[in-house]
Amino acid sequence: MAEEANPFESLQEQVDDAAAYLDVSEDVIDRLKHPQRVLETNLSVELDDGSLGRFRAFRSQFNGDRGPYKGGIRYHPNVSRDEVKALSGWMVYKSAIVGIPYGGGKGGIVIDPREYSEAELERITRAFATELRPLIGEDRDIPAPDVNTGQREMNWLKDTYETLENTTAPGVVTGKAIESGGSAGRVEATGRSTMLTAREAFSYLGRDVSEATVAVQGYGNAGWIAANLLEEQGATITAVSDSSGAIHSESGLDTQAVRNHKDETGSVAGYEGAAEEFSGEELLTLDVDLLVPAALENAIDEELAREVEADVIVEAANGPLTPDADDVLTEREVDVFPDILANAGGVTVSYFEWVQNRQRFYWDEQRVNDELEEVIVTAFEDLTDAYEEHDVPNFRTAAYVVAIDRVVRAFEEGGTFP
Ligand code: GLU
Repeated sequence: MAEEANPFESLQEQVDDAAAYLDVSEDVIDRLKHPQRVLETNLSVELDDGSLGRFRAFRSQFNGDRGPYKGGIRYHPNVSRDEVKALSGWMVYKSAIVGIPYGGGKGGIVIDPREYSEAELERITRAFATELRPLIGEDRDIPAPDVNTGQREMNWLKDTYETLENTTAPGVVTGKAIESGGSAGRVEATGRSTMLTAREAFSYLGRDVSEATVAVQGYGNAGWIAANLLEEQGATITAVSDSSGAIHSESGLDTQAVRNHKDETGSVAGYEGAAEEFSGEELLTLDVDLLVPAALENAIDEELAREVEADVIVEAANGPLTPDADDVLTEREVDVFPDILANAGGVTVSYFEWVQNRQRFYWDEQRVNDELEEVIVTAFEDLTDAYEEHDVPNFRTAAYVVAIDRVVRAFEEGGTFP
């Protein structure tokens, strides 16, 4: 097996690939390939048995040229400094391509949250919030959910920050529960932008997503909502997977029933409406019209890319393809619509949440969904315009061309200081 790609190097390669099509000097591009600062901390937290737990945690603030640092916090045993750096960089270009006024950040704790009680997770989250306090703020750096974090963790973060600061500042984190200042439509937003990107992609390619067969890797928040909304569009969801394995049905899975099964049993495996089950990796090479990787980085490497049978890939996860896989898929003319557009619904509705928090005026779900659709459709057009204009090899490079240009312009307008 080939060595696992380093996501930070993948990000740097993606920036370099696009820079070749832009008239931007190398020193400025170099600046766009490195985070501005990274906090690394060890959280000391008392565990339920009275012993002291140590948890390594990070927050990377990659670039703030277009606005406050923005991005999620991930709880996962594989979190590393380089992963957090990469994810924070992807946030910069994600915010730029959808045109929302944010820079990029990301955080993470090295932890398997399933091994800890809710009370322990609360203490760990509050310890992290205390470490983050000098760095974050409504106008400074705004965390959000990511893998294995959600409303519960965001509510704890907000409460800790507001208590320590003796103020109310709901916009200091996004992805909160509604009663704590969250936005309607935020939970579904990542999956919704994945569906919208797929819909626009198929239409751009002269096809109709309602006639597509779809395989979705990962059945967490992004994957399951994407599957559900694609099913609503008329697509046939023939396979889905999670870490327990994949389930398959040629006539189509009932995505809500699969979700209910996963809620009851903890996994998609064993769902009785499926015709067969196989390994999660096999799902990635199924002969479907659309493949949606919605799990973690590096799901598809060079070797697997040679076996992909899908015509179109829409990335709901961050960084699911290695750069080598990208090259193979470009050569094989598989159309890949990149993460920084396809999963940008999450941060876009985070932006709407933050706007609502700042104005103390809340929108209904229809307004959120309508405004999100407008943002994604416009960004899709910007991407395809760049694709046609610059003679780039694939849609990812087109997305980075648009995004980097926007960040560079903001940087040059501001100039350097000191
Ligand atoms: N974690 C999500 C992402 O990777 C959302 C970030 C946010 O809402 O700030 O895009």
